[in-house]
Amino acid sequence: MKIYKISTPGINEKEIIAFLKDEALFWRRTENTSGANETVELAGRLCYMSFGNLQSNRTNSEYIENLIDMGHESVLEHVNWSFIITGVSRGFTHQLVRHRVGFAFSQLSQQYFNASMTCMVEPNIIMKHGFLSEKWKQITNKSKEAYTELLALLDQLENENTTLSAAEKKEIKRLKYSAARSVLPNATETKIFVTANARAIRHFLDVRGSIPGDEEMRIVSAEILRLVSADSAVLFSDFYISYLSDNSPIVLKKIPGKQ
Ligand SMILES: Cc1cc2nc3c(=O)[nH]c(=O)nc-3n(C[C@H](O)[C@H](O)[C@H](O)COP(=O)(O)OP(=O)(O)OC[C@H]3O[C@@H](n4cnc5c(N)ncnc54)[C@H](O)[C@@H]3O)c2cc1C
Repeated sequence: MKIYKISTPGINEKEIIAFLKDEALFWRRTENTSGANETVELAGRLCYMSFGNLQSNRTNSEYIENLIDMGHESVLEHVNWSFIITGVSRGFTHQLVRHRVGFAFSQLSQQYFNASMTCMVEPNIIMKHGFLSEKWKQITNKSKEAYTELLALLDQLENENTTLSAAEKKEIKRLKYSAARSVLPNATETKIFVTANARAIRHFLDVRGSIPGDEEMRIVSAEILRLVSADSAVLFSDFYISYLSDNSPIVLKKIPGKQ
């Protein structure tokens, strides 16, 4: 599994200065604050126009922690990250794309992309045991062979009809790939482009990061937490990564009032 952080939240300093000037406001800013954190603070302050004399002595981190404590989390939706996730299974992404709010997905198509050469994502519990791993490889290879064989047979059917238009041929191809993929397993490797805002990521980590029996989800959750925390520690400061006895990561949420 690999996650590429394609885009990170930032601010447009020139436009912020223009806004403050137009509104005759002074914003006492915390030094060395990331674009993600400043965006959240600015969105929060705009709600109350709490600039200058109306600002408390809170630092940016304290301001954001307070927003989260209050449940004023819509301001977290203004910061977004985009990732490309590779080396994950279709089984995993089937669960991932169930997250409807604050997420956008673009996934490798099995209706257009020939999966004959695709890798299979082997679960660690299987990989750890040689005999199981061997068996698993045999089974998944058979699925791939079946896919390739079916595709070749379906191709022969298509070639019999030479009077089709380009558009019809395209749909026949989609039909053919769809039929062939029906024998591919959940382990089939996929690639997915994911964009999500901070609030949605927090919800995702909360409900998905700590399920002991869902290792692939835990591994991805931990890596996402690591990547987003590098841009904004405070937005995710109530989450932390721990490790299970097999050394695999788990994302836990701090209980308020406890260290
Ligand atoms: C342990 C576990 C087991 C699961 N098992 C299954 C299973 O067996 N079968 C299955 O189909 N799914 C299962 N799921 C998926 C689960 O039901 C959710 O679809 C998935 O986790 C996405 O969560 P979500 O709806 O909270 O996220 P999002 O879709 O991102 O929604 C975020 C939040 O927005 C609100 N929201 C979103 N849409 C609506 C709406 N239409 N109406 C009201 N409020 C809304 C809710 O507060 C929701 O929590 C499981 C999830 C977990 C964590």
